[in-house]
Amino acid sequence: MILSDVIKGIILQFQSLDIENPGLDAEVILSHVLKIERFRLITEREKNISETENTIITELVQRRLRGEPVAYLIGYKEFYSLNFQINRDVLIPRPETELLVDLVIYYAKKDAKILDIGTGSGAIAIAIKHNRPDVDVTASDISQAALIVASKNAERILNNDSINCIQSDLFQSLLNKRFDIIVTNPPYLDIKERKNLQKEISFEPEIALFAHKGGKEVIRRIISGFENYLHINGLLLIEINPNFKDYIKDLCERRNLSIDIFNDYAIHPRVAAIRVK
Ligand code: GLN
Repeated sequence: MILSDVIKGIILQFQSLDIENPGLDAEVILSHVLKIERFRLITEREKNISETENTIITELVQRRLRGEPVAYLIGYKEFYSLNFQINRDVLIPRPETELLVDLVIYYAKKDAKILDIGTGSGAIAIAIKHNRPDVDVTASDISQAALIVASKNAERILNNDSINCIQSDLFQSLLNKRFDIIVTNPPYLDIKERKNLQKEISFEPEIALFAHKGGKEVIRRIISGFENYLHINGLLLIEINPNFKDYIKDLCERRNLSIDIFNDYAIHPRVAAIRVK
């Protein structure tokens, strides 16, 4: 079978099921299986595809047609220009979350102590440490399975450097520890909306995405508890659901906290920067 025909066939199948980026997904799957860079799918379009390659491609295409995100099919996702290995124990890192990393890199003083709560694949914690080797990074997660993924990514991406990984339900195992910046991308989707969302989301760990009380429960717990874990003048940077902007402003006002909201590149309110007054 010829490569260009295989690509066309896959794109048609993806289009027939309204997969969002049929061309891109087909190319990512093919370049992964054939172990060639994406541009070479064009320059080598006359290449012959072997039976074995075709079997693997067909299986991945079937999984994609059932809704599984491409990142799980190929086992990695780029975030902050680094390659993170991922599996279904962790959320797929999102481009809008890069804003959290930008802000930590900007605000962290030299040798600052940083805590990333709910680290998942370790994307935020590792991207920070990679760009700011001076800071001390602790990454926590309630899920032991996620911490295994984060530790492996840290080892591979940071070479001789490292981060501390701790299993903890929010602040529970961090008693008596204090940080200069706490950063977090907590679950903030409404658990009641679970059934109405894209199929792709159902392949990701529920615990990383959904929260009770309209999606606000975990954010509320973090804002209620963070003060005891921050040094004086410390900063909490929290990724939010854009719909929560007013709720979080109110909550902070009532607790006498100062708050700034940063928009992401799509101009959605995405990060709350919270300080004790
Ligand atoms: N931004 C993610 C989404 O909308 C949600 C991530 C999260 O809950 N922290 O799919």
